[in-house]
Amino acid sequence: MSTQFDVVIAGGGIAGLTAGLTSARLGRKTLVLTGDILGGQLLSINKVDGFPGFPDGIPGYDLCPIVQEQAMSAGAEFAMEELVEIVPRDGAWRVASRTGEDYDARAVILATGSSLRALGVPGEERLRGKGVSHCASCDAPLMRDRVVAVIGGGDSAAQEALTLAEFASRVIVLHRGTALGAQAIYRDAVTQHPRIELRFNAVVEEILGDGSVMGARVRDGATGKSADMDLAGMFVYIGFRPNTEFLAGRIALDPSGQVRTDAAMRTEMAGLCAAGSVRSGWLGRAVASAGEGASAALSADRYLGRGGSGSDAWRAD
Ligand code: NDP
Repeated sequence: MSTQFDVVIAGGGIAGLTAGLTSARLGRKTLVLTGDILGGQLLSINKVDGFPGFPDGIPGYDLCPIVQEQAMSAGAEFAMEELVEIVPRDGAWRVASRTGEDYDARAVILATGSSLRALGVPGEERLRGKGVSHCASCDAPLMRDRVVAVIGGGDSAAQEALTLAEFASRVIVLHRGTALGAQAIYRDAVTQHPRIELRFNAVVEEILGDGSVMGARVRDGATGKSADMDLAGMFVYIGFRPNTEFLAGRIALDPSGQVRTDAAMRTEMAGLCAAGSVRSGWLGRAVASAGEGASAALSADRYLGRGGSGSDAWRAD
């Protein structure tokens, strides 16, 4: 016998937590499936900047538990379960978790987030956790007074280079492009930082080392010449891959694998919303994820208020 909820939210990042908070405050019986670890991508962010209410920034690993507590106070329930399947059933949804637990939900909000992409070069998998890392805030103290590289030229690469520069003697940002794509505040900070060096047209071909990272083979995209450099760590920040494998064939995904929705976070299927970095059109900020989570909960609430069944109730506004 499965447990029944008005709204089940899959995802324990800031989008899912805010959806849980909003849904519970609307009086809906709400369950948030967080997976093993709360916080999603924000978990490893030392300082979430630009989030309203925190003028000095706040660590992601502090922000997410605060929102979880707020959601629990409003009545949301939480389970450290991972969604593996959603199946339409009698005008509602059956939600299955990895441990075999089943839930019935009148509406579901997908906030399963995304995972950091791997480079896919030789040495990367072998040396993962031995100097190859996706978590600067976790591993930066291990890199004290050493030379490390960050791969990528976006916001993540710039932000994490700044975190690493608090410990490492030198941080070399290896970007395959000719200019950083990061937002101005990070771009300026890394450009001016005395311990951060930017290398453009830098294509990592291989990560070198036996028991741990010793360096990398890097090709200069302009000259075509490759050279080895000595490094103690490689921090890979080349974008996200949406966590939607379990949805393949069930609902419309865009070419990058993100879930398509309308502006109210509604997918094409009645009772199914998506929010945050899993959603096609996500604008790439923690605050946008939180806003999308709240919007999705409001859309689910309106649907349930109209009877919560069928496409007429789904598309009524
Ligand atoms: P992005 O997709 O924005 O940037 C990825 C970077 O990696 C680009 O420089 C890209 O280069 C490079 N890249 C991609 N594939 C490869 C590859 N195979 N080999 C080498 N380099 C590669 O990812 P981010 O993780 O930086 O950001 C994701 C989203 O999260 C964005 O919307 C961003 O704004 C947001 N974000 C916001 C933050 C904030 O507001 N504080 C902090 C962190 C992220 P190229 O341009 O050549 O494709």
